[in-house]
Amino acid sequence: METLRILHMYPNMLDLYGDSGNMELLAYRLKMRGYSSVKDDYTLGDGAKTDFSSYDLIYLGGGADFEQQLLAEDLLSCRDKIASAHKSGVFMLMICGGYQLMGQYYKDSNDKKIPGLGLFDYYTVASTNKRERCIGNIVIETDFCGEKYKVIGFENHGGMTDNVRTPFGRVLFGNGNKFGSESEGYTEKNVIATYLHGPLLAKNPKLADKILTYCLSRKAGREVTLPPLDDTLEKKCREVMLKRLLEEKKKK
Ligand code: GLN
Repeated sequence: METLRILHMYPNMLDLYGDSGNMELLAYRLKMRGYSSVKDDYTLGDGAKTDFSSYDLIYLGGGADFEQQLLAEDLLSCRDKIASAHKSGVFMLMICGGYQLMGQYYKDSNDKKIPGLGLFDYYTVASTNKRERCIGNIVIETDFCGEKYKVIGFENHGGMTDNVRTPFGRVLFGNGNKFGSESEGYTEKNVIATYLHGPLLAKNPKLADKILTYCLSRKAGREVTLPPLDDTLEKKCREVMLKRLLEEKKKK
């Protein structure tokens, strides 16, 4: 069986609210189906030796403005290689700070403009009032899974993202791309960029499997179907959260 190759970028700098758990979860769900995976960590300065296109999935978690500022130059030095990996169909999953850095730019809460990779058209600007942040639980509805699926997460960002042509989902509870926004994140067939921490994939197993199915099918050159796992506990947690958050909204 295929071994999935994952590149986790800046795991020591971009890891808020359990974001690294997303990678543990992918490895676990693969293992339960008899697949293996290898995860390489990319740290500052690894650009020259890294063949981004040889991976099946590239992952960036979220981070504070300070860390985003620190790594921006290093990330930019990998621009062309990451752009060709994206073009060739490598799956790209990015959370919050990672999401922002793939766009045109991120103007942080100190009014400092951090250049993005410019892979996508969106751009992000944070208020210089550091208290103005979108914080709390969030529920969105996405079509990414081939059916309507509610994605549950937690958001905490000062950056407000604009010019998103193809959002990841429609906000049912919470803020999304900016205060009171109707849309959340950015997506393409091999891209999910989202503000949702969680860890995202632990709370939304269908999304995890959709990403894995994409990666395995691309690698095998044929449609791969994953056998179902026992997600009874995950389903129960989701029911509780959805009930709590969506009913809370109705009461308002
Ligand atoms: N520093 C960015 C912001 O505040 C991203 C935060 C995050 O990754 N949670 O918008």
